[in-house]
Order: sequence, then structure tokens, then C-alpha cells
Amino acid sequence: MTPEEKLKILGTSAKYDISCCGGSYRQAGMVPGIYYASGSNNKIIPILKVLFTNKCKNDCLYCANRISQDMPRVSFTPDELATLFMQIHNKHFVHGLFLSSGVDGSADSTMEKMIKTAKLLRQKHKFRGYIHLKILPGAHPATIRHALYFATRVSVNIECPTPEQLAKIARGKDFMGQIVRAMEVVKNEGERIGQRTEQTTQFIVGAAGESDQQIVKTMSWLRDTKGIFRTYFSAFTPVSQPAPNYNFTTLSIRKHRLYQVEFLQRLYDFSLSEIYFGKEGNLPNHIDPKLNCALHNMDKFPVEINKASFKDLLRIPGIGKTIANKIIAVRQEGRLTYLSQIKKMGALAKKAAPFILINGKKQGEIKDLACFEQLALPYSGGLRQ
Ligand code: SF4
Repeated sequence: MTPEEKLKILGTSAKYDISCCGGSYRQAGMVPGIYYASGSNNKIIPILKVLFTNKCKNDCLYCANRISQDMPRVSFTPDELATLFMQIHNKHFVHGLFLSSGVDGSADSTMEKMIKTAKLLRQKHKFRGYIHLKILPGAHPATIRHALYFATRVSVNIECPTPEQLAKIARGKDFMGQIVRAMEVVKNEGERIGQRTEQTTQFIVGAAGESDQQIVKTMSWLRDTKGIFRTYFSAFTPVSQPAPNYNFTTLSIRKHRLYQVEFLQRLYDFSLSEIYFGKEGNLPNHIDPKLNCALHNMDKFPVEINKASFKDLLRIPGIGKTIANKIIAVRQEGRLTYLSQIKKMGALAKKAAPFILINGKKQGEIKDLACFEQLALPYSGGLRQ
């Protein structure tokens, strides 16, 4: 099989892992596996997202590449993949590589081949761009450290919020011993060598009966203690030959609400206790989490727009970081007087109105908010990484 034929299979197989980008996908000419992703500077770049091999000894219930799936199995060699990537890169189709893999034999032997690919790109082909390497569960700390020398970013997928839930859907994986431990190695080694390699993770949403509250709690813990820069969510959908009892699909609105909370925590510094979960520990589908947080914390509103701190401005529905900065800039020159002023800045003024005072005057009523149900926050929808 030619490398191009392998890419057709392994580029398509890689689409299920979204811990490099949320799934925005396009085909450039005849090249499969090209996605858009963005780094921490939010610069969006096209990347080649591909598996090193789709052979895997594990049988994770949510995975299209699991051992019990009847499908053609192929692998690249490091040299084949590095050469193929450079050909695509030299045509300016992609500026970066996301390399994941099934576990073919041992995690270490598979990862060493992935690392060899990255090393060839860095040393033989002098590629200085973006390389994201997947850390395979079970890889030895020494292998993980080796990966950090060549990767711009790494990820290890947590998949579920608790060890018990992970054991239900991915029997071969050890939550603490393999996954959380790998995150710690990345964090500690990065600090030791003075090169903080960014790391991300992914949850499979809805596969193990977990609640949104459990997901957000684990996400917060990983961000605060293991250096996880960003979390991605994949709504569970059955693979082509689903396991018994796993022929269902998680609503994509659930994933969307989790992305909104991830955004609030990562960019607006919302704490876990500020997020409102419904009775079963799930985010309500019908309302965006920021509006819902405000409605459940009405003792903190309305706030005077001419005095509120930056942090408090960010908690007003309809006002984001850009608008909060604009409000503060205007306040340095004088005072805000009319709701139309924040509307002109780009705020969702009607949405913000019940939560603000302008020079002591109330601007709106909660009952006027009915039209804002289902309104999405400006989250990246997967284009950022
Ligand atoms: S280890 Fe990875 S590739 Fe293998 S079955 Fe599990 S999720 Fe799929």
C-alpha cells in the first residue's frame, strides 16, 4: 500500500480524536485529514491530523479503531509519514501535524515510532512548525519525556471524570496510573527542562453515565493541578459495529454547554461553585450557562456599570472580555449614561439590561429575557485548540 493510500485510511480514522481541534474539517484537493486548529495565541492553522496506526490491542467501547471492529488495519513507518507530511506541507496545505495512534503492541513501542516521526521532521526535514503528539495510556515516563523534546503540544485523553466510569468503557486504561500520571509527568518534566509543553485532554460525553457536574469538577481539577491548558468534548456516538447497550447518541447541545462552561472557566475565571447545575447534576440544555449562573446569583445583581470591577463586568450576561475592556476604557474618560452606549460597543444590551444599573437606574426586567434562551456564548466551537 502506498503512503497516500494509507493516509486515506489513517487520516479518516483520526477524525474521532478532537483534542487538537473541535472537528472543523475540510479536504484540500485529494488530501484527507486536514483540519483547522488554533494555538494558545488563537492563530488558526490547517493541520494534518492522522493516526500512526489504526491497529490497537484495546477495546474501548466508544472507539472506531478498537480491536473488535472489523476493518482494514494499516501502519505508517516513521520515514513514510515524515516524508508524506513534508510533501503536503511544501504544497502549503498544512502548517502542522497532529499525530495520534492506536496501541499496537505496547504503548512505548508505538510511541517511540511516533516520536521518531517527529524527530525526523525536526532534524532531517528541519520542520519548525506545530507538532501535536498524543501520549498513549501506559507509556513509560521516559517515553513521555522523549516526546516533549519534539512536540509543541501533547495530549492524553481522560475520557471520563472518574476511574470507575473509565473502567466501564475502556477496560485497558488506568485512570490514575496511566492517564493522570502521564499528565503529571508532562507538567513536571516541562517545568524541569524549562520548556512548558502545552497539554490538552478530551472527555467522551455521555458514554459512562457521568453527569456534567462530574465532568466539570474533574476538568477544573486537571486544569488547576495537572497543567491542562484546554479541554475538549466529544459527544458519544456509536461506532459502526456498536457494543451491546451502546447504540445511542449524546445530544450535541450537551457538548455545547460543556464548551461554554470550559470557556467561562478558562477565559473568565469562573469558579466551579459559580456554575449552576440542575437537579441531576447536568447543565440545563435550554439556557446558556452564564445567563443561568447570573439568574441563580441574583443577590449579586444588578451591578453599577460605572463602578463594577473587570471580574464583575465579565459576570454580566451579554458582556464579554472585549466589551468589559471597552467599558473600563470609557470610564477612564468619564461615565456611561445610556444602555445604547454599551450596545454600540457590541454588547448584547437587552440581555445585560436586567443585571445592570447605569448611574443607579435599573435598565431592564428578568421577564424580558425569554428571547435569550438557547443563545450561545461566543465559544470557539472547536476552531481553537
Ligand atoms: S486505546 Fe485508543 S485507539 Fe485503542 S481502542 Fe482505546 S481509544 Fe481506540
